[in-house]
Amino acid sequence: QPVLGVLGGGQLARMLAIAGAPLGVQSLVVDSSSDACAGQVAPLVVADWHDHAALGEFAAKVDVVTFDFENVPADTAHWLAERVSVFPNPRALAAAQDRLAEKTLFRECGLATPEFVPVDTRADLDRALAVTGAPAILKTRRLGYDGKGQFRLRSADDADAAWAALGAQAAAHGLILEAFVPFERELSVLAVRGRDGEFRTWPLTRNWHTDGVLSLSLAPAPDIDALQPRAAALARTLAERLDYVGVFALELFVKDGELLGNEMAPRVHNSGHWTIEGAHTSQFENHVRAVLGLPLGDTGARGASLMFNWIGELPDPAPLLRTVDGHWHDYGKRARPGRKVGHATVCAPDASTLLERAEALAQVIGWEQPVAAVREAVGI
Ligand code: ATP
Ligand code: MG
Ligand code: MG
Repeated sequence: QPVLGVLGGGQLARMLAIAGAPLGVQSLVVDSSSDACAGQVAPLVVADWHDHAALGEFAAKVDVVTFDFENVPADTAHWLAERVSVFPNPRALAAAQDRLAEKTLFRECGLATPEFVPVDTRADLDRALAVTGAPAILKTRRLGYDGKGQFRLRSADDADAAWAALGAQAAAHGLILEAFVPFERELSVLAVRGRDGEFRTWPLTRNWHTDGVLSLSLAPAPDIDALQPRAAALARTLAERLDYVGVFALELFVKDGELLGNEMAPRVHNSGHWTIEGAHTSQFENHVRAVLGLPLGDTGARGASLMFNWIGELPDPAPLLRTVDGHWHDYGKRARPGRKVGHATVCAPDASTLLERAEALAQVIGWEQPVAAVREAVGI
């Protein structure tokens, strides 16, 4: 039985382990916390990223190592790669960990980005604002997620407030100022590349964020006939440039009908959770297949799907469980404000049936945001 090693024990590791089981794949997960939620479904090694004794033992037990957590230190990824196969490779991981390297790479691959300028000092911020104009977003180059480590500037008058919020992190992580894009839509493309270079994408997903956190995904995104081949070609160029193996997500803004690259996640991604029930092969299964060198599965959608994140705490699942083709995912995490604790996916043969199912849920559990989003996206 092949053994998959996963660095990080959150819900992504948990769903990878669950997807691996029918393939006969055992998972072994590393996390610094003994109550990491993947530990409920797979054996857990409790260790930090520089515990070479524990990581050495872990490496000896697994056939391949992959990531649930994209901010595993680069030196840890390199150290492991000297002992065991690591996919995606540490170079790809490093490119995705630094917003400056990532956006530079996007441009080299022909993917336009919002205007950006690196910022290391308070004076840099003024110079950068002159380039991007306002509004703009100041972000830490490293370690940000779920909109953390970001400050939105409405005008140049907000520069002092932005520096007060993030200036202290300039030395350790570096900062980047980006022009704020008044996008028409936010999309992501989930892609997978096998060890042999075989490449596939799932249909583009439309995403909605609330306070910088993904709240809702609709797939396939409506009106993507022109965008799908462009997004797929860009994702392929990126993957080949990085010699990437596994699943990744490319987050995109659509502005004036053109694609702009926001960031890439070098792992399975929240906007791909709908693929568990809504696609012929889920992102989790295809990631396991890819990193173990198995043939990839069909990435086509079965119909239309709507994924909704539960942040902070979970409601009563009964109404969702009663919904036709409604699916519930409880990550087994303790409730905490701002924390992703679970998600729900509703699938349907087509978008109008999906809207009916979301409307029925709105009556019982207040699914106003999903209903409004699907209605706007589909134009019904
Ligand atoms: P994730 O949890 O996806 O890793 P993150 O913390 O890395 O998020 P981003 O993806 O950079 O953050 O930003 C979060 C969200 O904020 C984006 O999905 C988008 O909705 C909005 N956003 C970020 N950058 C810009 C921008 N330059 N213009 C407009 N909106 C933006
Ligand atoms: Mg991110
Ligand atoms: Mg993002």
